[in-house]
Amino acid sequence: MTVERRIPLSVPTLAGDELAYLRECIESGWVSTAGPFVTRFERAVADYVGARHAVSTSNGTAALHIALLVAGVGPGDEVLVPDLTFIAPVNAVRYCGAEPVFVDVERETWQMDPDAVEAYLEANAERAGQEVRDRRTGRRIGAILPVHLLGLPADLDRLLRVAETWGLPLVQDAAQSVGVRYRGRMVGTLGAVTAFSFNGNKIITSAGGGMVVTDDEAWARRALYLTTQAKDDPLYFRHDTIGFNYRLTNVHAAIGLAQLEQLEGLIAAKRAIHERYRAMLAPRHDLRWVVERPDDRAIYWLVSLTMEGGVERRDRVLRRLLSAGIEARPPWKLNHTQLPYRDAATGPITQAAVIEAEGLHLPSSSSLTEDDQQRVVEELERALDA
Ligand SMILES: *Cc1c(COP(=O)(O)O)cnc(C)c1O
Repeated sequence: MTVERRIPLSVPTLAGDELAYLRECIESGWVSTAGPFVTRFERAVADYVGARHAVSTSNGTAALHIALLVAGVGPGDEVLVPDLTFIAPVNAVRYCGAEPVFVDVERETWQMDPDAVEAYLEANAERAGQEVRDRRTGRRIGAILPVHLLGLPADLDRLLRVAETWGLPLVQDAAQSVGVRYRGRMVGTLGAVTAFSFNGNKIITSAGGGMVVTDDEAWARRALYLTTQAKDDPLYFRHDTIGFNYRLTNVHAAIGLAQLEQLEGLIAAKRAIHERYRAMLAPRHDLRWVVERPDDRAIYWLVSLTMEGGVERRDRVLRRLLSAGIEARPPWKLNHTQLPYRDAATGPITQAAVIEAEGLHLPSSSSLTEDDQQRVVEELERALDA
């Protein structure tokens, strides 16, 4: 029996000027955080997104931590986050000394449900002077943190409306969604502040890295200050605040810049992969795909679906795919069930639980060949019919 090659979930395509830019770093001696690629990458991300400012970080989780801090989130606050997401934004809330409050997601798009956010606030929040407090817990509510999950946009107009009604900043996690457009507008230009990630499994990578993007100049300045050890006097090293060593290095930014130059092509590849999966599996009515809304542009970081038949069938399908060398994945375990967050406040969770039980992510690397995709589809059909 021949062992077929493993098909990974999501690996980077490094096909541009990565090596040339890295050579520049080494030959110039600029490898650490002070090099010219760092500011070039920041400017290029800001220009690409159409935002005024971009401040680089060592990873996306650090970008979220800083985004929350510049938005004023502090110890004892609460932040509303979706229950279905990779855990990093939830941990970032805790890094600020704040507590997450988990809300449900939409069944079709898997994104944070604006109605669930609104319902939670209407049921539990009260205005106290300039602040909004959660009357169940007595805590100040500091922000709403939607995650643009899987390369699709959360419903920003509706989330912004709720955020404005309550005077709360919208801090966004777009780690999986660089290049996503919401109703024609680029994610990163709406709301208060947005965090990106350039981790190795994202659509573009800087080997590891992140970015805080905002139109607010004071927030951008604060982000730069906090990510560079909060130096209030650069000669005598006076520090009035506890800062962080979060700035990206020149080596990472060099890779990131070369990757950004390829982003539109990679988005086209991901969109084509999504389209082909759907076309090849169109006859199956037991699958529900995560699909962009008509006016949006998804980048389909991970092609995702739910299948009928509950968790038993999904797990059977998943195990068959894995044993055939196909790296499919289930959705993330719901955050309110994770050990550190079991005591957190939550709204009603129904849709996220269905998605957790019946969801599946398919191999979605931008380099996925049509032959490999054919193999995934054949194995998936066999697993579904087993
Ligand atoms: C990857 C990811 C992050 C964290 O980014 P890192 O660069 O890995 O720290 C945050 N949020 C979401 C939703 C992610 O997928």
